[in-house]
Amino acid sequence: MRRRVVFVLLRRRLRRREWYRGRTSMKFDVRLEQAQLSDACEVLRRSYERGWISTRDGNVSLRLTAGSFHISPSGARKFALNPEDFVLAERDATGQYQLSASRLGAKPSGEMELHQRLHALMPPDRRAVLHLHPTSTVAAMFAGMRLAAVADGFPEVARYTRVGPDVPALPATSGVLAEATAAVFSGALPALPDIVGLDRHGVVAIGRDVWDCYEHVERLEHICQIVLHAAAAHGVFAQLRAAGLQVATGSASSEGMQLPDAAVHGRRSRSRHRTSAARQR
Ligand SMILES: [Zn+2]
Repeated sequence: MRRRVVFVLLRRRLRRREWYRGRTSMKFDVRLEQAQLSDACEVLRRSYERGWISTRDGNVSLRLTAGSFHISPSGARKFALNPEDFVLAERDATGQYQLSASRLGAKPSGEMELHQRLHALMPPDRRAVLHLHPTSTVAAMFAGMRLAAVADGFPEVARYTRVGPDVPALPATSGVLAEATAAVFSGALPALPDIVGLDRHGVVAIGRDVWDCYEHVERLEHICQIVLHAAAAHGVFAQLRAAGLQVATGSASSEGMQLPDAAVHGRRSRSRHRTSAARQR
């Protein structure tokens, strides 16, 4: 009888300990989820403030378990999002994603398919996808530059951010854009790029978390600003020379900036004059 009482007490204690462990880990996961969704809101707010998106542009998603991810809502003002505005997409037994309504009752981002495809191919240590429209990066592609080649010219960027091949101009939120973007990322496996450009549109970055993605966008945008400033200065000096005005000889600026050929999209056969003119547009 005594042995039975001891056994029952021990079993109760073990169950209580398991219950407590479960509760603590659940609380931790909820805290982690809230913290990461708050970070996603902050990243979109800062992106808006820096002019990398207009009010309702851009989207972000976060994978917290193998079969589910949170994604920003469609059409919302991205500088004023809250964690509860996100839509939860959970994979069911058939492999299809089922959506939980957000607080706003909003649909998921129009780029849902793009996020879904990227989460399917990303390794477990990459959990976030961020899509933005950073001005100078889009302008560099519009001017005919290849982002991967631009990044290769800046060792401090190439060291921390791997830039993939640009995706050609395709309609936003379309299945073909989602497919082409996923193909560019998966084509580089196992060394996935951190970021790729979408011609006439924006960028998609993947990372450990949303801040990791944000930093990839920031590094690429910064060097595109530098290259565009240099290209504009080159145009100004060329005009001064053509007008017969004095330009200090021997300085780097007077010689103008020569972009590496590899940085220019398929325009190598054009004359230097025409290429320079195209960069100024
Ligand atoms: Zn977009």
